[in-house]
Amino acid sequence: MKYYSIAIDGPAGAGKSTIAKKFASELGFTYIDTGAMYRAITLFYVEKGIDCSDEASVCRYLSEIDVDICYIDEAQHVLLNGADVTGSIRTQKVSDNASKISAIGQVREKLVALQQQMARSKNVVMDGRDIGSVVLPFADLKIYLTASVEVRAKRRFQELVEKGTEADLSTIAKEIEERDWRDMHRENSPLVCVEDAKVVDTSDMTIDEVTTYCMKLFDEVKGCEQ
Ligand code: C5P
Repeated sequence: MKYYSIAIDGPAGAGKSTIAKKFASELGFTYIDTGAMYRAITLFYVEKGIDCSDEASVCRYLSEIDVDICYIDEAQHVLLNGADVTGSIRTQKVSDNASKISAIGQVREKLVALQQQMARSKNVVMDGRDIGSVVLPFADLKIYLTASVEVRAKRRFQELVEKGTEADLSTIAKEIEERDWRDMHRENSPLVCVEDAKVVDTSDMTIDEVTTYCMKLFDEVKGCEQ
């Protein structure tokens, strides 16, 4: 039986998880948020007070970490050593440190193997930074989702305001730029737009417009198979 895989990559705040989730739900595929897995590993070190840029210390503890994904009412939950950490991986501290943890080769090896295993036996929409380039190089469809820094910062600002969290637009923009820079310039699996990816700039598009466009791209892929 053939299983489909769709890879969605792009910088922070481009709308990957929102779109991937909707896209997966429309297709009846499983959504896998790989960023949540890097965040869960990061949370382990943040809670232990270990410097996330200190590769030797990070690698020393890696074998003690077990990350897993489960689904409750179709929503993805991420487990860190058996504990559901879905709610606690979205803090600013985890976001900032995740791009340091994810630059470490051994961390990537551990998670890439797990992600590839997850995609082996089901239809998936997977989002991240290295999905089209490393995790699923033979994906049926690769999408590179992007948007301007200004738009991405405004979206994040709006999310925080809606949650009642105090936020400063220019600080958010600066943090997004720093995170992009680290993700794009690291030695191990940097964020790249692979040649065979369809680039979608979401700056001036609504969520529904992007989802409809992605569905069209997938229909084209299936159309080519017939
Ligand atoms: O997507 P999200 O912002 O939750 O990802 C958090 C961090 O995890 C990213 O900034 C990036 O450094 C890392 N990441 C990665 N590769 C992936 C997914 C996320 O390096 N496939």
